[in-house]
Amino acid sequence: MTGFYTIDDLTAVLGDVRGKIALVREDLNVPMADGAVSDDTRLRAAVPTLAALSDMGCITLILAHFGRPKGKADPAMSLVPIAAPLAALLGRPVGFMAEPSRDALSALSPGSIVIAENSRFAAGEEANDPALARAWAAWGDFYVNDAFSAAHRAHVTTEGLAHILPAFAGRSMEAELRALDAALGNPKHPVAAVVGGAKVSSKIDVLVHLSGRVDHLIIGGGMANTFLAARGVDVGKSLCEHDYLATVESIFAAAEAANCTIHLPYDVMVSREFAPNPPSLRSCNVHEIAAEEMILDIAPASVEMLGDVIKNCATLVWNGPLGAFETPPFDAATVALARTAAALTREGSLVSVAGGGDTVAALHHAGVAGDFSFVSTAGGAFLEWMEGRELPGVVALERAKR
Ligand code: ADP
Ligand code: MG
Repeated sequence: MTGFYTIDDLTAVLGDVRGKIALVREDLNVPMADGAVSDDTRLRAAVPTLAALSDMGCITLILAHFGRPKGKADPAMSLVPIAAPLAALLGRPVGFMAEPSRDALSALSPGSIVIAENSRFAAGEEANDPALARAWAAWGDFYVNDAFSAAHRAHVTTEGLAHILPAFAGRSMEAELRALDAALGNPKHPVAAVVGGAKVSSKIDVLVHLSGRVDHLIIGGGMANTFLAARGVDVGKSLCEHDYLATVESIFAAAEAANCTIHLPYDVMVSREFAPNPPSLRSCNVHEIAAEEMILDIAPASVEMLGDVIKNCATLVWNGPLGAFETPPFDAATVALARTAAALTREGSLVSVAGGGDTVAALHHAGVAGDFSFVSTAGGAFLEWMEGRELPGVVALERAKR
């Protein structure tokens, strides 16, 4: 990882920042139900940066998007309802500034925090329009990007502003980048990756990238069926992408060339119907699957084998559940391996980083999300990082330090 400035560098770079105006990109795109925030994870993630800037006497204008208004004002996607819950978490007032300007911001007292309206109401935001970037940059003295989850987009508030203003990573951005670097950028070896989920086709780039970087690639979920099929296993009625057997062959070849061991399950949980606790549920060797059966989870002996792989590793990166975890008992393998990883992390022998919408849900379901070294809620940005892609928002922060 090349370097980037953080909030700790503000004074060294800018001198005394008391009274200076910070434009801070946060992720305020929280789920809402009946006009109230139903999951405030992202608001809590914004608190450390906002509190630090306020403590330093900066005047902060928060920039963020909400939903997909596609360049037009839409009252249903206003950020107005976010101010009160954010203020409650911060323990200090958060205002709303409908029409920001340098003069209006300068008139606020040092330490003030205000939110600007949904950045995507402006047509130029997603187009990364340079004129819009210049207009918004004129409001402030420096820029802080604290929204890793939006860093895979090159928009005015995620990338464009960093070209114009001195640019710094916020606390959450910094934590995310350091965790991802410890997991894949500059990890302690041996490194294991768990990749699960439904389909090979949605994660080809992830699989190709990981096969060149990790020592052990553990394949689970529906995509393991396609890997098994490529190895000549008859997977019956299982979810299987027969059009992707050649892709899987190329992943096997890439892994072999890079000295990466691919681990597949050798025993699995199968049933004739996909339903909770189906009567036809049984475990069997992968070579004994009947034509009308489907694989819905990994069976205990294979899970133990995968646990032994992780026990011998220093680093684990995990994306995708091992089975159809929403339907009991097909959560068993995911829960068991997650608990093994959590225990190893607590003991201090494993650095564990996980991400992905369903993966985070599965770790919460297993009760171990808090025991992992880092759990990314960044979704698309996390997956693009797993694919080894450069994220424009991060590149812009790195360039700002050069
Ligand atoms: P993430 O959101 O963490 O990136 P994915 O969306 O790739 O994860 O995959 C999650 C989905 O994969 C879950 O809905 C789960 O039910 C499904 N899945 C896992 N194993 C199987 C399987 N053996 N058969 C069918 N679906 C599966
Ligand atoms: Mg998903």
